[in-house]
Amino acid sequence: MILELKDICKEYVQGKMTVPVLRDVCFSMEEGEYVAIMGPSGSGKTTLMNIIGCLDQATSGTFFLDGEDVSKCDDNRMSDIRLRKIGFVFQNFHLLPRQSALENVELPLTYAGVPKKERRERAVEALSRVGLEDRVDFKPTQLSGGQKQRVAIARALVNRPRILLADEPTGALDTKSGQQVMELFQDLNREGVSVLMITHDRDIASWASRMVEIRDGILKRGGES
Ligand code: ADP
Ligand code: MG
Repeated sequence: MILELKDICKEYVQGKMTVPVLRDVCFSMEEGEYVAIMGPSGSGKTTLMNIIGCLDQATSGTFFLDGEDVSKCDDNRMSDIRLRKIGFVFQNFHLLPRQSALENVELPLTYAGVPKKERRERAVEALSRVGLEDRVDFKPTQLSGGQKQRVAIARALVNRPRILLADEPTGALDTKSGQQVMELFQDLNREGVSVLMITHDRDIASWASRMVEIRDGILKRGGES
């Protein structure tokens, strides 16, 4: 099991009010699966993704990632898990604007202490994997939306993560570029990468092999792998 969430609750305190955002979420995923979590805006998708991505802690409940109890981890351990086990893809790419595609993709390897030569090689390899071998020296402003997202996917893969997490990966793209990103995810999943994608778009969700719905912070049954 790559992911195992049990009775995950998340609430935010605002003034005197406590706002529940996730309520007793149970969800699990096998290694190599491709799952989409679907729900309308405000249903708690990003909140859930941030917990799964070790960017945020739940208020209560247990969460195992790759066999490790993340609910018991401190901040240092959480950043280490993020760096080594998780690849992130966001709606708005989150690329550094002044750095080339190559430098953006190299960044996680720099954090991981990989020597320069190997860094270069692996970043070029990841960019080739997403079909951008002829764009390594381009800056984000010189790339289309679809190309920017492919750079972000190369960056997400370069540390060979255990799971790829994507929050609305096609949300900022036109239909054709969105389709290309979905084809890429499908290929990666067929090569063995576990993929968890969040979307409010049913057509996009249907690319996954399993779909789970969330509404008002409640994940519908079917979340168990
Ligand atoms: P989605 O990604 O499905 O659109 P979110 O997870 O971003 O939804 O948000 C779910 C709910 O949690 C929303 O009602 C939002 O206002 C609330 N929320 C998210 N982050 C915070 C925060 N930091 N403080 C207070 N409320 C928040
Ligand atoms: Mg969101």
